[in-house]
Amino acid sequence: NQGIGSWPARRARMTPDRIAISHRGRHHTYRDLRDRAYRLASALDVGRGDRVAFLGANQPASVETFFAAGLRGAVFVPLNTRLAPPELRFILEDAEPALLVLGEEHDGDGLPGRHLRAADYEDLLASGSPEPIDEPVGPDDGCLIMYTSGTTGRPKGALLTHGNLTWNTVNLLVDVPLAHDEVTLVSAPLFHIAALAQTLLPTVLKGGRAILEPSFDVDRTFDLVESERVTVMFGVPSMFAFLARSPRWAGADLSSVRHLLCGGAPVPEPLIRTYQERGLSFLQGYGMTETSPGALFLGPEYSVAKAGTAGVPCFFSDVRLVTSEGSPAAPGEPGEVYVQGPNVTPGYWRRPEATAKALTQDGWFRSGDVGIADEDGYVRITDRITDVIISGGENIYPAEVESALYEHPAVAECAVIGVPDERWGEVGKALVVPSPETTAEPEEVLKHLHGRLARYKIPKYLEFVADLPKNSVGKLLKAPLRQLHGG
Ligand code: AMP
Ligand code: MG
Repeated sequence: NQGIGSWPARRARMTPDRIAISHRGRHHTYRDLRDRAYRLASALDVGRGDRVAFLGANQPASVETFFAAGLRGAVFVPLNTRLAPPELRFILEDAEPALLVLGEEHDGDGLPGRHLRAADYEDLLASGSPEPIDEPVGPDDGCLIMYTSGTTGRPKGALLTHGNLTWNTVNLLVDVPLAHDEVTLVSAPLFHIAALAQTLLPTVLKGGRAILEPSFDVDRTFDLVESERVTVMFGVPSMFAFLARSPRWAGADLSSVRHLLCGGAPVPEPLIRTYQERGLSFLQGYGMTETSPGALFLGPEYSVAKAGTAGVPCFFSDVRLVTSEGSPAAPGEPGEVYVQGPNVTPGYWRRPEATAKALTQDGWFRSGDVGIADEDGYVRITDRITDVIISGGENIYPAEVESALYEHPAVAECAVIGVPDERWGEVGKALVVPSPETTAEPEEVLKHLHGRLARYKIPKYLEFVADLPKNSVGKLLKAPLRQLHGG
């Protein structure tokens, strides 16, 4: 078995007594993880290519089910716990798993198919054999189907192979020199690609320890960093912003931290500076579920000089920017980000049309994001293709305007959308969640943009709002905002 299901056994050959997983103060060594993955794999009544779904927060059963499915050549389908029942049903009917494994907090009521409840999990595991299983699983076999956020349309299952995830791990380790003794805090959910592929898998490959937390919590994060001497953590920018805003930030002992991985959205430059003042720099990346996820990476050497960009392509991947006319974008010119490499999905589960749209004939994945490269090839992600405001023939990339707004201290959160305008077709409207201490008026915040941005980019309207709509990962949802504001 050359698949990822074999990783616990491969690690246990080298370092059986090291702790692989910590959860609620209980520790599982690599020997435990290997034996439990074999037991579960032998007890699971699933065949090659079958799907095995998991519904639950980060917990050992989720990791064990992932590896056990891989040992059998089955495909792991992690489900987002924040989805409503009809959304879960949609995914389960699409994926048709042979089994749905339920975490402790879920009873599975109303969900289709065969279930394994948490109460029966240990019994099933005990009925299995710890003897090695050696299914012929290779790099091109399916390992994972992950349903993407669904900010647009109904969710699609991105199929990732064992090879895709292995190469992503290699790409990551080329850029992030993880050691054998990392203590990785996994508090982003494992049903999203970043937690699984950017933290758990590289940690297991190196023989480090992954601390599984059911969710991200500011105080708990400080507690664990201090008591467990956490060395690695992944977060989306808002998580790191929450930490920096906490009253514990100033006094926290962060001396154990070696690597902070940040991605999923552009990292605001003030946040980068806040962390730099503590001697901490972000390893930033850009990617998506379909690219396992790493596509671009910005290492610490250039994090200041190239701040605001998402870096250059990962070592074994390639990125190119393609204009709307289909030609290569010149430096400074916006283009759609295309990604190619061994980490790129072979396609969407049972969606040949969506696959054909997303993958070009020669295997480039079309991200739907817009990027601009500088002369050195550093790519700034400026927006999503569908999220461009066209005003008087000029294109406005809301992400750029938002990042300028964030530089004003009154702005805690913001979103810029296009609203119809008689004169210009569309104009920008900024929705700003003011920071609690501020006494600034909306006009002042708008004024701050003058001189920083081309006039046409400055929103015509700026309104203070109490909050902004987000999806389960904390990603801003612009569609409902546009609806609300007549866009
Ligand atoms: P998902 O579809 O949930 O896998 O999310 C992938 C999307 O998140 C990408 O297509 C981008 O739109 C966005 N994204 C991820 N990383 C970054 C980044 N560093 N900067 C800007 N946008 C990002
Ligand atoms: Mg996407």
